[in-house]
Amino acid sequence: LRMVSANAVGNEPVSDEELRPHILEGFIGQPRLKAQLQLFLDAARKRDVPPDHILLAGPPGLGKTTLAMIVANELGVPIRVTSGPAIQHAGDLASILSSLDAGEVLFIDEIHRLPRAAEELLYIAMEDFRVDVMVGKGPGASSIPLTLPRFTVIGATTREGMLPSPLRARFGFTAHLDFYPTEELEKLIERSAKVLGLELGEGAAHQLARRSRGTPRIANRLLRRVRDWAIVHDLPIVEPDDVKEALALYQIDTEGLDRLDIAVLDAIIRNFNGGPVGLNNLSAMVGEEAETVETVCEPYLVREGFMMRTPKGRVATAKAWGHLGLTPPQETGG
Ligand code: ADP
Repeated sequence: LRMVSANAVGNEPVSDEELRPHILEGFIGQPRLKAQLQLFLDAARKRDVPPDHILLAGPPGLGKTTLAMIVANELGVPIRVTSGPAIQHAGDLASILSSLDAGEVLFIDEIHRLPRAAEELLYIAMEDFRVDVMVGKGPGASSIPLTLPRFTVIGATTREGMLPSPLRARFGFTAHLDFYPTEELEKLIERSAKVLGLELGEGAAHQLARRSRGTPRIANRLLRRVRDWAIVHDLPIVEPDDVKEALALYQIDTEGLDRLDIAVLDAIIRNFNGGPVGLNNLSAMVGEEAETVETVCEPYLVREGFMMRTPKGRVATAKAWGHLGLTPPQETGG
């Protein structure tokens, strides 16, 4: 069976980690961002100092964590991983900071969710490489300044606008990740298929890429489902029709829209007659936080021409009506 290659024996689970590229060169797509980051890293290496702090912004699943790990790997330094919600008190962050080694990368996912006090502590640490450690309690408490070695913070956020400007200003480099075009996702799928030991026929990667919502994480997830299909059906090579059939079984939308995308379009069309509707009303109708609708759902729907954001609110396009199998009324059809 050609499907099984040296590095993937049968249906042994392959973790997310195994599909993560470890060097910048292996990171698919986003050419401008890669060139900028390469220059940034080369300069730091030449100067022999840890690079400036880096902010990675963009929707989930587009490669922020992967890039952070690549940066640490390219610099040959360890990476410490935490997240905004994991840090409940400023003290949690203080203890992480005070245990960092020189040059280490501190990755803070969902950095916009840090508590306010931790945020303040962080930007002082990022600027002055110093943290104030509280000793004692009550009126007798005092703070002792502790000098930190130089390190690099890599923050990731789906919501750059929510970062207070003093914190945002501490990042020397901000990268915006955007949804991937189908051709780039095809390359990514071909690379992942090799890692998984799956042979894809001509056009199969394209069918998968189209359904991946512009998102590498989704592309890899769908590829695994297709692999299950190939294993069960003893397919040596996966052809485009196999992809269609396998993904139809999982009710994957042909345009890559997920459950929330569809719920949003459905609400605009059925509950608000195509819009315009305000973000809060829309979010309440689909039972999701406004932040999620705005940062996860809408950018993709707008980019793919299913929705428009107007001053009066969100409007479903004729393409959206058509996708749900409906005919737009004359006024909104356009
Ligand atoms: P985020 O942190 O933005 O939510 P991740 O970095 O966790 O996203 O990426 C999700 C998955 O997609 C990872 O398993 C990674 O292997 C893969 N991935 C993301 N971007 C790329 C890329 N540009 N090239 C190759 N694989 C990628």
